[in-house]
Amino acid sequence: MIEAKVALVTGASRGIGAAIAKALAADGFAVVVNYAGNANAAAQVVEEIKAQGSQAMACQANVADVQAVGALFDRIEAEWGRLDVLVNNAGVMTLAPLAEMPPRVVDEQIDINLKGTINTLREAANRLGDGGRIVNLSTSVVGLKLENYAVYAATKAAVETLTGILAKELRGRGITVNAVAPGATATTLFLNGKSDELVERMARMAPLERLAEPEDIARVVAFLASPAGGWVNGQTLRANGGTV
Ligand code: NDP
Repeated sequence: MIEAKVALVTGASRGIGAAIAKALAADGFAVVVNYAGNANAAAQVVEEIKAQGSQAMACQANVADVQAVGALFDRIEAEWGRLDVLVNNAGVMTLAPLAEMPPRVVDEQIDINLKGTINTLREAANRLGDGGRIVNLSTSVVGLKLENYAVYAATKAAVETLTGILAKELRGRGITVNAVAPGATATTLFLNGKSDELVERMARMAPLERLAEPEDIARVVAFLASPAGGWVNGQTLRANGGTV
């Protein structure tokens, strides 16, 4: 069994997940860098972590695929023999008015954001060591209720509900379950398809008047995974510069 505590970050090949993986590695965790298709980007995150003197491995798995998620947790157990932290970060977003949202795109967001989170939570609930930590990524749009975000925000509202209930179901094991709900953050998921004007307008919605960088969110997740965050349980922590 590996000596360091082990953290699994889903969707850690880029964006917020990559920043979370690096922040947890800097805090001493051995990190599993999960990704869906972008093997090169995941390998680069692993190399960066190793260059800083921490341990990391890349593991492909589509979180929407129940079998693949089981195999992912089996592999972590086989290679490192323990799991202490799960960060459910993998997610997708397609924006459109509900009336125009193609059913295929509805399914994709539910499959990855909601069922994907359930798939990893089920495995974690059965396998996480005592004193472990779970952090799920939601979105501040659950509070903002912006047009075009209905399906995406609904999947994340469900994630917040899962968070509060799982925190209670894991009673007695010293495991905390929380959600972090970022506001607009400078990643492909947010920037894709938006005009410069729209990005600027959304950046200024926060009283702090800028987009978050992935590291702003990673620090909050790292806090919840650290001893300092140990008394926070069953909560959704909005990290959005004050937008909502
Ligand atoms: P990005 O699009 O930048 O990155 C998404 C990551 O998720 C990639 O690593 C991608 O892997 C991975 N991924 C996508 N689908 C799957 C899947 N089926 N199985 C496993 N991994 C998958 O997104 P962000 O970093 O912006 O978002 C991270 C999280 O934060 C998401 O849950 C998102 O909803 C949430 N969030 C983001 C906000 C923002 O403004 N950016 C605001 C609020 C919440 P690969 O590279 O292999 O495709």
